Amino acid sequence: MKKAFITASALLTVGCTSSEIKNTEQEDFKWQIDRFDDIKVLRYRIPDFDSLSLSQKKLVYYLSQAALCGRDIYFDQNCKYNLPVRHTLEAVFTGYEGDRETPEFKAFEKYLKKVWFANGIHHHYSNEKFTPGFSEAYFKTLVAGTPALKGSEETVKTILPVIFDPELYKVRVTHDGSVDMIQASANNFYEGVTQEEAERFYASRFDPSDPEPVSHGLNSRLVKENGVLTEQVWKVGGMYSPAIEKIVHWLKKAAETAENPRQKATIETLIEYYETGDLKTFDKYNILWVEDLDSQVDFINGFIETYEDPLGYKASWESTVNFKNLEATKRTELLSRNAQWFEDHSPIDDKYKKKEVKGVSAKVITVAQLGGACYPATPIGINLPNADWIRKEYGSKSVTIQNITYAYAQAAQGDGFAEEFIFREMDRELAKQWGTLANDLSVDLHECLGHGSGQLAPGIKGDELKNYGSTLEEARADLFSLYYIGDPKLVELGVMPSLDVMKTEYNTYMFNGLMGQLTRIEPGKDIIEAHMRNRQLIARWCYEKGKAENVVEMFRQGGKSYVVVNDYEKLRALFGDLLREIQRIKSEGDFEAGRQLVEGYAVKVDPELHQEVLERYAKLDLAPYSGFVNPVLTPVEKNGEIVDIVVEYPDDYAEQMLYYSSEYGFL
Ligand code: ZN
Repeated sequence: MKKAFITASALLTVGCTSSEIKNTEQEDFKWQIDRFDDIKVLRYRIPDFDSLSLSQKKLVYYLSQAALCGRDIYFDQNCKYNLPVRHTLEAVFTGYEGDRETPEFKAFEKYLKKVWFANGIHHHYSNEKFTPGFSEAYFKTLVAGTPALKGSEETVKTILPVIFDPELYKVRVTHDGSVDMIQASANNFYEGVTQEEAERFYASRFDPSDPEPVSHGLNSRLVKENGVLTEQVWKVGGMYSPAIEKIVHWLKKAAETAENPRQKATIETLIEYYETGDLKTFDKYNILWVEDLDSQVDFINGFIETYEDPLGYKASWESTVNFKNLEATKRTELLSRNAQWFEDHSPIDDKYKKKEVKGVSAKVITVAQLGGACYPATPIGINLPNADWIRKEYGSKSVTIQNITYAYAQAAQGDGFAEEFIFREMDRELAKQWGTLANDLSVDLHECLGHGSGQLAPGIKGDELKNYGSTLEEARADLFSLYYIGDPKLVELGVMPSLDVMKTEYNTYMFNGLMGQLTRIEPGKDIIEAHMRNRQLIARWCYEKGKAENVVEMFRQGGKSYVVVNDYEKLRALFGDLLREIQRIKSEGDFEAGRQLVEGYAVKVDPELHQEVLERYAKLDLAPYSGFVNPVLTPVEKNGEIVDIVVEYPDDYAEQMLYYSSEYGFL
């Protein structure tokens, strides 16, 4: 629940004024290396890698190896047939002896590229199963023409309907409260279990008197065996053991290279957790991790985010390896040092304000490797840990990933998007000048202040909002960010030069929530993903509440619709009003009010506007989703000792995927 994914707003950041990247080679650097369907594959750079010490570089290297070892876990979590599907497709791709230049083979290739990108057969963002652009009969020809698949007839028979039957495993995860969400979700967190059984199973484990509850169900698959519910725990010796053993192997090397005793203890505790599966140990690890503020190199590695489980118990495996961008971190440190001021001046009800905001630590990071659920599609900001009581007692760590936002902005330069969709020339100019800073700042505010603000009423557990919880939580953090990016306090603090940055952000946000993000929805479909729902909720609610005073205007000219903000101060006040209401809903666990907000504003799409946006967007021939290949880190050895780690930027997407499958395919 704590990630900010890149939005179409990045497409508007056509300028680059706030970046620290000074590398002179960047002019020639090829940012985009592949394009298929609605996806473009980009590269990111690791600026300042050479400013790290040798020991830090080794640490980054070991942690990066650990980050790559969990790839198969995430494939399997997304659907239990993903690995056999991928293995079969890869065997065909590398070994088919027939004609590889036909349109059908190209369609097959595209399908495989999509499966790699999504870590499975469902779209990484819409969650819907891909429709192959080739027939079942053709696929059988491919299999027959691939010598390596001799003897795999049983596997092929099993996966045929998985790939080709559109009704089977239709969506990876559904948050549609009107059906049994577990039965209707294709992911692999539960087997033979109904939603009601799972809910009862975990409700019985919840002890309301425990002030330090573990995250029940986080690291296991729940199955029914002979009528009994059992958890298959993801640990060494348990489910996913072959991959987890490799992760542990590299973490042990990382622990030996840690920057300081606290970081060493942090990594060792993570190893202990992987070895035991004990969720108490996971909490202990999180506390050590959140309190490690001195190390420059940092990482995420484990079963972390739960939004791919409709019930919010099971966590997807993910990893990132990163190091602090010392210069840019001064900005977020200023914000977190003033966290109490922001809390005190927030427009929410006083009784839901934190009397004492603890340890909101924020930094800007340079990511050096992405793995699991963070690869190839990656968040641009992360705020962890997720356990509420740890956040309350020990605070949370919040990051903005600047080399990723920078790569997005570079790749989007001059793509024609702003010219097509932004009506006023002055708004396009603002975006050019302040787009990158507005984007970075809003992520900082969302992550390091937004999620951490506010408190629950006594007796409220925090899970009352159920399937609407993620959307409302993201809306709360976004509203906090929107409200404060319009506050003169930010100018006073020196993190932005003028309220023009606010104007840029408001223009972008309203356009994106009302129109821009529709480019990512297929015709006739509802909005499902939590971050997208949250953006439409905020934009539509404010548009409608401000209609009488024409705060935000939508109009058509020359057959094209546009969004224009007329009154920034009034819009800011509306953001404040909605923040107050959503905080109340969260604090009181008011499910019904939350349901009405989401169902009323966030889900349905105006079909005519949608059609128009898609047509205009199609003409630009852009891809709405992006992801990244990783840089390759290679140790340089001399007399058996590592003397340096060198970075290379590969430019072949399929090659990296095949390499990962062969070198890190442990399941
Ligand atoms: Zn968030």
